[in-house]
Amino acid sequence: MALKALDIYKLLPKKNCKECGDPTCLTFAMKLAGGKADIDLCPYLEKEAKSVLGATTRPPIRLVTIGVGERSFAVGEEFVLYRHEKTFYHPPGILFKVSDTDTPDEIRAVTTRVRDESFVRVGADLRFNGIAVENASGSDEAFANAVMTVEKAADLPLVLMAKKVDALAAALVHCGTYRPLIHAATRDNFKEMCALANRHGCPLVIKARGLDELTSLTRACSGEGVRDLVMDLSPQSLSDVITTSTAVRQLAITRNDPDLGYPVFLDATFSEMQDAAIALGIVKYASVVVTAPLSPASARAALTLRQNIYTDPQKPIQMNPGLYRIGSPGNDAPVLLSVNFSLTFFTLEGYLEATRIPCFMLVVDTEGLSVLTSVAAGKLNETLVRDSISKFLVGSEVSHKKLIIPGYAAPLSGRIEEATGWEVMVGPRDAAEIGDFLEKEWKK
Ligand code: SF4
Repeated sequence: MALKALDIYKLLPKKNCKECGDPTCLTFAMKLAGGKADIDLCPYLEKEAKSVLGATTRPPIRLVTIGVGERSFAVGEEFVLYRHEKTFYHPPGILFKVSDTDTPDEIRAVTTRVRDESFVRVGADLRFNGIAVENASGSDEAFANAVMTVEKAADLPLVLMAKKVDALAAALVHCGTYRPLIHAATRDNFKEMCALANRHGCPLVIKARGLDELTSLTRACSGEGVRDLVMDLSPQSLSDVITTSTAVRQLAITRNDPDLGYPVFLDATFSEMQDAAIALGIVKYASVVVTAPLSPASARAALTLRQNIYTDPQKPIQMNPGLYRIGSPGNDAPVLLSVNFSLTFFTLEGYLEATRIPCFMLVVDTEGLSVLTSVAAGKLNETLVRDSISKFLVGSEVSHKKLIIPGYAAPLSGRIEEATGWEVMVGPRDAAEIGDFLEKEWKK
């Protein structure tokens, strides 16, 4: 059960010494209550108070970083069971799996694909995160060579997947300083695996079936000094992915079982329906998802789903307001009014590009609301349009004074004309019809 700021404050030393980086103990207590500070930052806490506060103020799911450098990613530190309660913070890393039985050329091809491939959606660059190397050959040397091939081709986060400690040790000689995720400690080998993780400072996956075994294994590994743990729940079916992962998340979030407060690992290749397993993993709390290299269609689907689930539902994705050019518009080009809800922007932009008619998009600040919502809420109004025309110097870009407004903003047409002195043309409600509209109404 989480403590309130005042309860936390009562347990603090109240020296107001600022050593924690906060101006007062009270502000530090407020941060702790929100899960935004670490109790270890206060050096004056009594041991007893520290253990009480540590158990209640740390994020219920530990933040674990995989890899180093620009492409490293952090997972965990989530606070809610349902996205609409607040938001999900750390999108799962999705890694393509290669095997040490693949040829070096095949391994290089997958690695360079993950290194270079990205696709832009609603203004964000979407990419896969790294490479998982599997010791399918059983040979330590082949595994180390495969890891070396990946390492030489790209600086990407790695998951090292082997049953033998010796094989992992051989591979870690080449990549141990880059924080690869080691997969996996089991009941039988956890002491050796923990020693390896400690020696190289790497995060470690524990693999177990059933909540009791998971709990006892995380406890045992943290007792060995490994704190950056990730849990492979060993699902046997797609329904198992949902039930086990949901149970773990529930117990962790409510702090009923702090030993389950670690990110979850999913090897989607366990299922013949890999795409479905990936989707379930993204939606149901997996933080590291390993998959065979995906077809272009599956790749886009996975990245799109991840982006959708991990955007803040309370903050629409917004574009910067301004005057955007489609093609190379001249001073006789049409000017289309739009809002700064990114989905509206990119949808309209896509259709406008398809028309091949150079034009301007005047994007006004409706705080990320769509046209319909912003009209209903009064955010999109004649004053905003007038001020935006002036602020973004639209009059100096075109020789006419005609403004095409979205169909859903039709009720504002008269008021916009009065406020701006521009002639208003009411465009279609559906962006897909903008091409026909421009052909018929603008070019006539
Ligand atoms: Fe208070 Fe501890 Fe922060 Fe000093 S370091 S201000 S005592 S919370």
